[in-house]
Amino acid sequence: MRVAIIGMGTAGVSILRQLEQHSYFKELEIDVYDNAKNMGQGVPFQNDSSQLLINLPSKDMSLNLNDQEEFYKWYEDQDEFKFDNAAYLPRFVFGHYMKSYLERFSNQYDNIHIITEKATEMFLEKGFEKDAQIQYFVCTNHQHEACRQYDYVFLTVGTMSYHDPYKLKGLKGFIKSPYPTYETLNTVNGTDDIAVIGTGLSSLDVIRYVVKHHPNLPLTAVSRKGELPSVRGEMPDITLKYVTKDNFNNIIKSHFGVVPLESAIHLFKQECEELNIPLEQLVHRRVGDPIKDLKYDLAHPEILSVFQSLLETIKENMNWIWNSLSIEDQKIFMKEYMPILKANSNPMPPRTARLLIEEIENGHLIIKKDLAEVTQENDTFIFKYNDDTKTERYNVVINATGPRTQLKDLDEDDAFLIDIANRQIVQAHPMGGIQIVPETNQVISPRYGTLPHLIAIGQITNGINQARNGVNMIVRQSVQAVESLYEYHAENR
Ligand SMILES: Cc1cc2nc3c(=O)[nH]c(=O)nc-3n(C[C@H](O)[C@H](O)[C@H](O)COP(=O)(O)OP(=O)(O)OC[C@H]3O[C@@H](n4cnc5c(N)ncnc54)[C@H](O)[C@@H]3O)c2cc1C
Repeated sequence: MRVAIIGMGTAGVSILRQLEQHSYFKELEIDVYDNAKNMGQGVPFQNDSSQLLINLPSKDMSLNLNDQEEFYKWYEDQDEFKFDNAAYLPRFVFGHYMKSYLERFSNQYDNIHIITEKATEMFLEKGFEKDAQIQYFVCTNHQHEACRQYDYVFLTVGTMSYHDPYKLKGLKGFIKSPYPTYETLNTVNGTDDIAVIGTGLSSLDVIRYVVKHHPNLPLTAVSRKGELPSVRGEMPDITLKYVTKDNFNNIIKSHFGVVPLESAIHLFKQECEELNIPLEQLVHRRVGDPIKDLKYDLAHPEILSVFQSLLETIKENMNWIWNSLSIEDQKIFMKEYMPILKANSNPMPPRTARLLIEEIENGHLIIKKDLAEVTQENDTFIFKYNDDTKTERYNVVINATGPRTQLKDLDEDDAFLIDIANRQIVQAHPMGGIQIVPETNQVISPRYGTLPHLIAIGQITNGINQARNGVNMIVRQSVQAVESLYEYHAENR
């Protein structure tokens, strides 16, 4: 059977690793696609500053579902990278751990073919006979001769390009993506004023890099709300007692096939009561002063960590929770509850919080809110705010607004996705990304219906896999997707 993996970051390597575990592995011919830079590492774990840390403890993030400490053990066993504090390792180290799998497999097996090019087109062929199997063609360089034929394709292309809310892409001084951070300041002069748009996780990455490598450059981070992510406590394991499949199934039976959002929230509040989480207090704890907010989180690790753990556990179960809601309720959730989920999950390590406090207190870093508009005049960016008529000027703007989520917003940076949507292989999900079957990750095409052998995993499935694209969740989806491949293979070999 011929298999393609398009995109060799976390999801792609995870699929390959799972494929290799099986006794039928050698019966497959596998082509893996990515550019040379990202092959085996992907974007979040590419080579970058050692200031950028993974957002889970090193012992809790792994490609092996049966061994959560596998990455940490790999780190301990190698000599290339060593750090004083290995509790949260730099992200690029995880990238090298992933890449070590690809290197080992490609040395060991001759049925893995590494194609160091990005896919530019994909098309499908299906005969007219009743049981005709679909064949998938993946092409590179826009060349028809460069198209290869497959029985099974994994679409693991990662995040879409970054938002550009103020239409600044292409302007001199605008850095459209914050990664790799060590390239963001390539063209910056010692006297330039720099602003980062966004105050989320990728903004923290830029801040960490700039304060370490350019301690004399003042930095302003601006967003609409000016809120930083929360700070991580020691996160205990939590078992859900109320937000359970059984409870959801009972509600579904009496509510025409969906769980009303208010019922789901009621169950969530019961979880909070059971765990003694002061929900109202935590949801409204922020006072809008970054130093006070960070200090609050640092001073309350016990209670915050239970809350964060509960939210992480909810995220792990988000496939059936999210897909039990109606689209209307999903929209309400996105507006009212997603900001709370986002602000309290993926928290930053405490040492990052301490660094931010230090930099804000010494005046090196300014966090601002209420950004309304950014324009450019004479190579200078002009920032306008909601609350006053005063404007600010910056020479360099680094975009840390986060990746786009909707197909309709894409531009030429996501040409492959636009191409496969245009060929009606994929279609937009109303809540973002593409339509897939939640349980199997099979793509639902507007032209061909459910495509049983086209499997999408990762950010492009964000409408279905809302808040469910961290490493461990991607690995879980890969395990299940590969099981399905081998079931099919066993029936047809
Ligand atoms: C900045 C950042 C930090 C994160 N940190 C963490 C963390 O610490 N812990 C955690 O659990 N999660 C983290 N995440 C979540 C993250 O999304 C996942 O963990 C994971 O890396 C995503 O894997 P992926 O395979 O979907 O994407 P990626 O790992 O980015 O892989 C996608 C790959 O597809 C390739 N590609 C794209 N288009 C094509 C094409 N047309 N043809 C061929 N190849 C293509 C890209 O080059 C890339 O290599 C982070 C996310 C971001 C954005």
